[in-house]
Amino acid sequence: MNKDLKLFNELAEILLKEEKQQPVAKPIDTDKLYKTLDLSLNEHPSLDEDLKKTLLEIIKSTPKTASTSFFNQLFGGRMSKATLGDLLAVMLNNSMYTYKVAGPQVGIEKTILHNICDIIGYDKYSDGTFAPGGSMSNFMAMVMARDKHNSTVRTAGVNSKMIVYTSEVSHYSINKNAALMGIGRDQVRQVKVNAEGQMLASDLELKIKEDLANNNQPFFVNATAGTTVLGAFDNVEEISPICNTYNLWLHLDGAYGGSVIFSKKYKHLVSGIEKTDSFSINAHKMLGTPLSCSIIVVQDKKYLNQSFSNDAEYLYQTDGDDFNLGKTSLQCGRRNDALKFWTLWKSVGTTGLEKIVDKQFEIADYARDYIKAHPDYTLYSFEDSISVCFNYKAIDAKTLCTKLYESAELMVGYGSFNDTDFIRLVTINSSIDKNDISNFFKSLETFVKTKNLA
Ligand SMILES: *Cc1c(COP(=O)(O)O)cnc(C)c1O
Repeated sequence: MNKDLKLFNELAEILLKEEKQQPVAKPIDTDKLYKTLDLSLNEHPSLDEDLKKTLLEIIKSTPKTASTSFFNQLFGGRMSKATLGDLLAVMLNNSMYTYKVAGPQVGIEKTILHNICDIIGYDKYSDGTFAPGGSMSNFMAMVMARDKHNSTVRTAGVNSKMIVYTSEVSHYSINKNAALMGIGRDQVRQVKVNAEGQMLASDLELKIKEDLANNNQPFFVNATAGTTVLGAFDNVEEISPICNTYNLWLHLDGAYGGSVIFSKKYKHLVSGIEKTDSFSINAHKMLGTPLSCSIIVVQDKKYLNQSFSNDAEYLYQTDGDDFNLGKTSLQCGRRNDALKFWTLWKSVGTTGLEKIVDKQFEIADYARDYIKAHPDYTLYSFEDSISVCFNYKAIDAKTLCTKLYESAELMVGYGSFNDTDFIRLVTINSSIDKNDISNFFKSLETFVKTKNLA
């Protein structure tokens, strides 16, 4: 092992250098991938030096998500203390299902969950768990809501039209989950949004009434804290009373923007969060932990047990249910996603998490100011969002993003809203500062000029 740890250090240092020298890896065409790199698995072992050489080549051509040219996704950068925690978790290699096997790691997970419940104003009956990503956190919320609404579903299966409401710009996992859990995609109502991409409460209520008139069974409303394209925050204060009136489970999908709970300045964006039934947050997005680190908390922990516990004598042999986390999780064997978040939180404190969040909004403001000050740009997004959506000189967004990627200049993506395509610059990457934003715009402008794109 010591020899491989040495090799690991050597490779990691090369990666850090590469991120600076070649911040956007030159992409390999998919039809040339297997000819360019030796990815083959063979009958006989590889020599150590051959393995090292191949690993180096793979590292060089893998997209650099921690470089200062990566704006492509809702994650990026590297929080070194979080990476440290994750490396340790790999070395320790516990499985989180029982106290017997995970020991104090159970307490680490629970401490994070209880702190988040406290911060958002859930009471002592609340609890949560770590899920394998935001899509699965949403899945768990939907399953708990389904079982609360009709507890016979767990044994008899779905035998009525159970209806889900989510905005037309919410994450696709809501539709996919409806299919996975036997409710069916046709039972997901796409609620209309206003000009800023927030769910229209009036349209939500209208659709609920229609379903009730048709003898359908409304049971779940998904609100979003940070929509995937525009970064819009649905208004929980407006949506929550409607859920109370019709006795519907209210989930807040904060995979993208939920981390505003740590910021005094921005937590107003999720005002009313304490009235939700469940809330999910991805620490691997705004907080910059390594992938993946997704958390779901629930106002009343009995629903976690009701939907996810299963007796298993071969597994649960010691300690109480509060310490045997397998009773409230989606998986059986489960990797330790808590330690990386805990090492980050422990080292920077809650005020440090606040700074991480506030900085992203500050950089987004800076990017928006630049766009507003330069007439060649059109801005599509609003204040209070770290997704800065724009077009430059009316160049087709998809064409420009693809050319920037193919030329190994910048990694940035595009999106659309109300039938308009635009570039989506996300200021979530923990490695960037204002200077990198200026460089981003400069690189883009120079690229357009030299390639004669406008
Ligand atoms: C990213 C995202 C998800 C999905 O999270 P994964 O961890 O990628 O599964 C869900 N909802 C929203 C709003 C997101 O931005």
